[in-house]
Amino acid sequence: MSEDGIDIIIVGSGPAGCTAALYGRRLGLSTVVFGDTPGGNLYMVNSLNNFPAYVDGVGGTEFGLKLFQQAQGEGARFTMTRLDRIARNSGGFQATDNNGRILDAPAVIVASGRVPKRLAAGGDHLKGINFCSVCDGPLYRNRRAVLAVVGGDNAAAQHVLTLSAVAETVYLIHRSRETAMDAAHAALLAGLENVCVLPETEVVRYVGLDDIEAVAVRSAAEGEREIPIDGLFLAVGWTPNTDMIDFPVDITPEGYIKTDNRLMSSVSGLFAAGDVRDTDLPQVLTACADGARAAKHAAASIAANRPRG
Ligand SMILES: Cc1cc2nc3c(=O)[nH]c(=O)nc-3n(C[C@H](O)[C@H](O)[C@H](O)COP(=O)(O)OP(=O)(O)OC[C@H]3O[C@@H](n4cnc5c(N)ncnc54)[C@H](O)[C@@H]3O)c2cc1C
Repeated sequence: MSEDGIDIIIVGSGPAGCTAALYGRRLGLSTVVFGDTPGGNLYMVNSLNNFPAYVDGVGGTEFGLKLFQQAQGEGARFTMTRLDRIARNSGGFQATDNNGRILDAPAVIVASGRVPKRLAAGGDHLKGINFCSVCDGPLYRNRRAVLAVVGGDNAAAQHVLTLSAVAETVYLIHRSRETAMDAAHAALLAGLENVCVLPETEVVRYVGLDDIEAVAVRSAAEGEREIPIDGLFLAVGWTPNTDMIDFPVDITPEGYIKTDNRLMSSVSGLFAAGDVRDTDLPQVLTACADGARAAKHAAASIAANRPRG
């Protein structure tokens, strides 16, 4: 049996979802947020240094918790469960979570972010293959560890910055000649003595039985060789979280939800905000801004479609 009287269902409790909930509540809408991680991917951000007004930066987990608490304080309801399925019905949408709870609402904001990709190198079962340096980096402290980061963007740079403080050596392995990181990150990395950058290098295989022991890499300059490591951190791309949407919606070839200038998808009443949509700047600031705008336009869409009389 579904619960009635809800205006907006939000999928995801990251920066986009929490800000959508905050704005939704301040517009007087009954708002329910599905998601089990307050702050979403922010727990992976060691120090958020590019959010305006935070002159000295702020910890990602701390910032995420504040976003969550602020939305909760305004009266948004957080289920702390994941949403299994959103389907369409006559009144708009029906959502079912992993506890079997069913909610109906005329508008949905998908703010479910994206998850890191794996490499096609086999051996995904090996211990020591990680995606979050803030979470798993401390495991290597005081072990004179040799770690490797695969990837060349700002997220890879953040991993290297975090890991260089706990490891003896950090390899940064990336495929192209130049990295895709911005100048600020590149400058920070250039100042680190225990970081060894391997450009134009590809990981071809993981080596190890239970734990990862080495990565086999290949480059035009050095051919194939094995680098012994204690742990690997991957930053090699993303897959947007859209599996829960149970009806056709327009997406990009990479799977990101296409939106118009109101952040509405190709399905009326279904909005998308933050990293899950076709954004040109997947960052905390833009995710928050998206969340606010999606809530505003969701409110307008609900008002426009409300039965008269
Ligand atoms: C290592 C790293 C460093 C970064 N550094 C910075 C930085 O310095 N500055 C910056 O601005 N940005 C940074 N980012 C990017 C930033 O974290 C993201 O842009 C931001 O978190 C996107 O917010 P979001 O709300 O769109 O998605 P997310 O933060 O990904 O939140 C989405 C949430 O939805 C949940 N979800 C998914 N599917 C479901 C479902 N079916 N039901 C319920 N919940 C679901 C997810 O589990 C997740 O918790 C960094 C990211 C990483 C990984």
